[in-house]
Amino acid sequence: MKTIGLIGGMSWESTVVYYQLLNRMARQRLGGLHSAKLLMWSFDFAEIEAFQAAGDWQAATDAMVGAARNVERGGGECIVICTNTMHKMADEVQAGVDIPLIHIADATAAAIKPKGVRQPLLLATRYTMEQDFYKGRLSDRHGIGVCVPDEEGRTTVHDIIYEELCRGVVSPASKERYLAVVERSRAQGADAVIFGCTEVGLLVDQEDFDVPAFDTTALHAEAALDFALA
Ligand code: GLU
Repeated sequence: MKTIGLIGGMSWESTVVYYQLLNRMARQRLGGLHSAKLLMWSFDFAEIEAFQAAGDWQAATDAMVGAARNVERGGGECIVICTNTMHKMADEVQAGVDIPLIHIADATAAAIKPKGVRQPLLLATRYTMEQDFYKGRLSDRHGIGVCVPDEEGRTTVHDIIYEELCRGVVSPASKERYLAVVERSRAQGADAVIFGCTEVGLLVDQEDFDVPAFDTTALHAEAALDFALA
């Protein structure tokens, strides 16, 4: 089994889920007392969020490349960035190390393709919903076009991520607001939901929807374990 290198802490509320899923899946696949071989760099998310909010993506990129190099030096055999948003600098991170980066959008696309959905709705941070690094990868490399909520919906989804989910707050009222955002988009043709932020699965799950839901955290963790066990 190879050692999976995780860059986490963005936020740690979802990194915990990666840790649990990777270990559980390793036990399921290998049995007995098996668990995943992991090496993690975990950021102080306040520092990263400050770079994001200031639009200082260069400082954020420097921090991410530094973390990836630390993971590589420590013996990690791949890089798993445990957030969708910070895949904004995935190319720079990959260029900074000699080990492969397992991209969250590729893992997501591999699950979406066989389902034959036409217009999945992306629920994510404002950065991921409005910039091109994630949507562009899905369309350019995988031929998957996504839609995003309207402006009001994007604000709701983004704010609940940063003000609640990344702080460990999971509220039924916010879940209702997420479901309302999805309902509105369903009326405009969305036929699937991508949990495009690693905390979204803390609030909603497949049972909440009558269309396919794709949880990027779970799909990414699965792709990482596939790599480790190949
Ligand atoms: N974990 C989130 C994501 O998947 C948001 C926090 C961050 O900005 O990294 O995008």
